Amino acid sequence: MKATIIDGKKISQEIREELKPRVQNLIEQGLKPGLAVILVGDNPASQVYVRNKEKACEKLGIYSLKHQMPSTTSQTELIQLIDKLNDDPAIHGILVQLPLPKHLDEKKILYHINPLKDVDGFHPYNLGRLMIGDPVFLPCTPWGVQELLSRYQIDVSRKNVVIVGRSNIVGKPLAMMLVQKAKAANATVTICHTATENLAQHTRMADILIAAAGSPKMITGELVREGVVVIDVGINKVDDQLVGDVDFESVVDRASFITPVPGGVGPMTIAMLMANTVQSAERILHG
Ligand code: NDP
Repeated sequence: MKATIIDGKKISQEIREELKPRVQNLIEQGLKPGLAVILVGDNPASQVYVRNKEKACEKLGIYSLKHQMPSTTSQTELIQLIDKLNDDPAIHGILVQLPLPKHLDEKKILYHINPLKDVDGFHPYNLGRLMIGDPVFLPCTPWGVQELLSRYQIDVSRKNVVIVGRSNIVGKPLAMMLVQKAKAANATVTICHTATENLAQHTRMADILIAAAGSPKMITGELVREGVVVIDVGINKVDDQLVGDVDFESVVDRASFITPVPGGVGPMTIAMLMANTVQSAERILHG
C-alpha cells in the first residue's frame, strides 16, 4: 500500500479562500479584524513564525500589529501590554508567541489574555469550554488536524485514535476534541507519553495515529499497522533540516494516508489562527 499524501498546504489555502469573503463582509460593515502578535526576544524560529502570521494577515486583509519586545522585558511590562490590547477595540485576537524567555511566567501571562481575544485557545477558560464540548476558540494546531481529517473525508467516529504527546497545546486538547460526542469526533482516544509502557502495543492499535512528541522520526514502520492514517504534528530541526516525528520513508508504504513535514499540519495552524481571528471579529457584530 502506498499512502495518499495529505496536502496541508492546499487545504490551508482552501480555508483562507473561504475566509476572504467573511473578512470582506466584516470590512464592509466597518469592522476590520485585527490580530496582535507579541514576540519577546529574538528566537529565530519564533521570528519566522511571526513573520508568516503577519504575511497571512496581510493576504487576507486582516489588520496585524506586531509588538517586538526585548528579551529583558519584565513580567509587569508584558502584562501591561496585554492589558492595553485587551482594551483595544481594533484588536480581536492576541497571540503571545511561545516559548517565552525563562524569567517570564508563561502561565500567568497567557491567563492574562482576555479569553474572548485568546485566538490561540490556550486560556483555561477556552480549554474548559472545549472540554465540555462548548468551545469558543479551538486551539489552532489541534483544530488544523481535525480539519485535515474532515476535508480528506477520514471518518474519526468509532475509530481508535492514538495520540503520542500530552502537551497542553497539542496532545491534550486534540484528545478532548476527538473524544467529544460530536461531528468530526466520537473517537476512542488513547494518549501516550514518556511513561507509557510498551508504546508499540498502543500505536499498533491505532486506526489514526497522531504524533505530537517533538521526537524526530520516532514513529517507524514497525510501530504502525497496515492501513493506518498518520498525522505528523512534529516539527524538529535535524542538521538544518525540518523533520517530523514520523519516519516518513518507513511508514508511507504501510499507511493509507500520511501528512508530510513540511507541508502537512504546519500550514494548517496559521490558517486556523486566521479563522479564529475572523470568528472573533464576527462575534462583535453578531454576538
Ligand atoms: P511538548 O514537548 O510540550 O510535548 C511533547 C509530548 O510528547 C510530551 O507529552 C512528551 O511526554 C511526549 N513525548 C516526547 N517524546 C516521547 C517519546 N519518545 N515517547 C512517547 N511520548 C513522548 O511538545 P508540543 O506538544 O509543544 O509539540 C510537539 C511537536 O509538535 C514538536 O515537534 C513541535 O515543534 C510540534 N508543533 C507543531 C506545530 C505545528 O504547527 N505543526 C504546533 C505546535 C507544536 P511527557 O509529557 O511524558 O514528557
